Amino acid sequence: MAPLNQTRKASQQAASGDTDIASRLLAWYDAHHRDLPWRVAPGAFARGVRADPYRVWMSEVMLQQTTVEAVKAYFRNFVEKWPTVEALAAAAAEDVMKAWAGLGYYSRARNLKACADLVALRGGRFPDTEAGLRELPGIGAYTAAAIAAIAFDQPAAVVDGNVERVMTRLYSIETPLSEAKPQIRALVEKLVPRTRPGDFAQAMMDLGATICTPKRPRCMLCPVREDCSAILTGDPERFPVRLPKDDKPLRKGAAFVAERADGAILLRKRPEKGLLGGMTEVPTTGWTARIDGATTAEAAPFAADWRRAGQIGHVFTHFSLELEIFHAHIKRDAPAGHFWSVAHEISGEALPTVMKKVIEAAIPGATKKQPTR
Ligand code: SF4
Repeated sequence: MAPLNQTRKASQQAASGDTDIASRLLAWYDAHHRDLPWRVAPGAFARGVRADPYRVWMSEVMLQQTTVEAVKAYFRNFVEKWPTVEALAAAAAEDVMKAWAGLGYYSRARNLKACADLVALRGGRFPDTEAGLRELPGIGAYTAAAIAAIAFDQPAAVVDGNVERVMTRLYSIETPLSEAKPQIRALVEKLVPRTRPGDFAQAMMDLGATICTPKRPRCMLCPVREDCSAILTGDPERFPVRLPKDDKPLRKGAAFVAERADGAILLRKRPEKGLLGGMTEVPTTGWTARIDGATTAEAAPFAADWRRAGQIGHVFTHFSLELEIFHAHIKRDAPAGHFWSVAHEISGEALPTVMKKVIEAAIPGATKKQPTR
C-alpha cells in the first residue's frame, strides 16, 4: 500500500489540478505530437475527421510488447497488403503469419486474423465501446481502452507502460508498480478530459515516450513539470518503484539446419498452440533447462554429417534460450512433416526471429535473399 501521506498528496493533486494538467498536456501535444502512420492530426475529431478504427486496432495489436520504431514498417506493409478488415479476413492465415514473421509474440498474429474474421463477419465495423471491443479476440483491457479513445474519442483511461511511468512520477507513487496499478488507473480516470479524450490518451503516451523517459527524463521540456511531485524529490528516475526481479531461467537445446545442394533449407511448422505457435522452424530438440545430451548432434532427427555451426541466444518473456546450431548438406526427400524451402523463398517464410538467428548462424545471408517475382 502507498504511505498515507503519498496517497493523500496524490488525491489532493488530482482533485485540484486535473483540468490544468490535461489542458497543458493537450497544448503540448498539439505542437509536439509524434507523426505516426496510423494517426490523424491532433484535434481532428472536432473537425469531423476520424482515425480509421481498422488502422488504430492493427497498430495497437502490433504495439503490444513491441516498440513504435519496430512496428512502423510492419504496419505499412500490412495496410498496403490488406487495406481493410475485410481484405485481412479474406487473406490466407499462412500469409498473415508470414507477414508477421520477425515481429514476435506470434499469438498476436493469430488473434489479429481471428479478430478480422469476426469483425468482417459482423459487417466490417469495430464496436465503439470498451466493453464491445473486449469481446473480440486478442483485445484486452488496455487495447480496448486505446481503440475506444483513439478511434472513437471515448473517455477511456488508457494505461500502458509509458503512462504508468508518467503517473507514478507525477504523483510520486511509492507503492511498487505491480501493486500500484489500480491507484494509477483511478488517477488517470480523473485526468481524462471530456473534450479530446483520444488526443489526451495519445498525449500521455507521447509524453512518456519522448520526455518522461525511463532514463534521464527531460523535465525542463515537460509541459506538466509544475504539477510533478517526482521532480521535487530530485530523483524522478526512481519512479516507478519496482520490486527486485527474479532472473529468467535458462533453457538449452539444439537446432539443425539441413541444406540441399540447391540451397534449399529443411523446415517444418510448429504446432498451432503454444510458444511460436503456427510459425516455421528448422528441426530442433525440445528446449529444456537441462544439459543432458540434447544439445549435441546425436539429438538430430536423422543421421547426417552434422557440423557444429555455433551457438545463438534468444530472450523470450519467461526464459532465455541457448541453442547449439548444427549444419549439414544432405541429399534426401523431406521427412514426414517437413518441407524444403528453396533459397529465394526462405525470406518469405514465417520464421520467428530466433529461427532467423539459427539459420544465419549456419548459412550467413540465407534469410535475407529477396524472393524472385
Ligand atoms: S517533470 Fe519530469 S518526471 Fe515529472 S512528468 Fe515531467 S518529465 Fe516526468
